[in-house]
Amino acid sequence: MNHPHPLLDLPPLTADRFAAIERRVAALLATEQDVVITQGEALLPLEGCIRGGARPGSTALNIVTGPYGQTFGDWLRDCGASVIDLEVPFHTAVTAKDVEQALAAHPETDFVSLVHAEAATGNTNPVAEIGEVVRAHGALFHLDAVASVGAEPLLPDAWGVDLCVIGAQKALGGPAGVSAVSVSGRAWERFAANPKAPRRSYLSLLDWKERWIDTGRRALPHAPAQLEMLALEACLERVDAEGGLPVLTARHASAKAAARAGAAALGGGLEPYVYEAADAAPVATTLRTTGGVDAAELVAKALAVDPSVPLAAGGGALAREMVRVNHYGPAATPEAVRASLTALGAALTDLGRTADVDAALVAATGAWA
Ligand SMILES: *Cc1c(COP(=O)(O)O)cnc(C)c1O
Repeated sequence: MNHPHPLLDLPPLTADRFAAIERRVAALLATEQDVVITQGEALLPLEGCIRGGARPGSTALNIVTGPYGQTFGDWLRDCGASVIDLEVPFHTAVTAKDVEQALAAHPETDFVSLVHAEAATGNTNPVAEIGEVVRAHGALFHLDAVASVGAEPLLPDAWGVDLCVIGAQKALGGPAGVSAVSVSGRAWERFAANPKAPRRSYLSLLDWKERWIDTGRRALPHAPAQLEMLALEACLERVDAEGGLPVLTARHASAKAAARAGAAALGGGLEPYVYEAADAAPVATTLRTTGGVDAAELVAKALAVDPSVPLAAGGGALAREMVRVNHYGPAATPEAVRASLTALGAALTDLGRTADVDAALVAATGAWA
């Protein structure tokens, strides 16, 4: 017996269709560089980029503005690179000046790794300015743009990014199981010159270049993850249907403004975790609990009031003091932000705090541009 099912018994995804999706991703990134779609969650190309770009004898500047930067530092060390960690407090962003000083102190640096926006900490970094500094220095520039793509402007070519990694699972509201990276000519040269770069490996971007790009994109090296590819295609079509990237990024900018203004008016000891609005990521707003309120407990109570709200406590040690309003993708709406504030207000009241939900909703609505 054969039970038809929309997700099952799919025909194989053709090479032409795969190449067309790749071109759509390149258009999304406004890039002329090669785009490689990787058959896995974004950690796959991120690891592939770092293992391809760093090697024993490399000096890597690893900018840490949240937990992802910490992970990349571990990979870089694992590759045998000398790693300079430039750490900035999670409530702020790194500046181009910080990067310039670090590069001046370590002129041998040949690889710079940066996370554009961190959903886990709620900050965003000025990539355009940092890119200028990195380009002037000459190091290869690697960027994790998983949490920024779709939520804020992202222009890898204009900003001098050599390796720009994206995933669809945040602001684009797409699948988590495929990801992509734009690769500059300089980055390909670096990989090719690195005897330690992954080869004959799922992590190898070079294998993909040789077997797919250099052979004219005629035959796929292996069966593509067709469900994820179709979901990625649908997600890119939906971005266009909404009016394109500017409409999507404007929706996220409004969600950030509304969440920050609403939280400030709510009171109850909640305050924006990232001090300066300019340093706060449009993908998610992080809030700090004060006065002994446990963030994980607050979030659990808020979710008990309204299980539909996009709230989460911070990861690891941050769970005590950080609330994340994950207003990305389908949750970048006035309704989702308002519901989040309402649920947080109810939870704060339950914990004996004074919270002004009415004022929060007025402030959030007023701030939604
Ligand atoms: C979400 C995210 C990723 C992807 O990681 P997941 O653990 O799958 O969520 C990578 N980098 C950044 C900066 C992210 O915010």
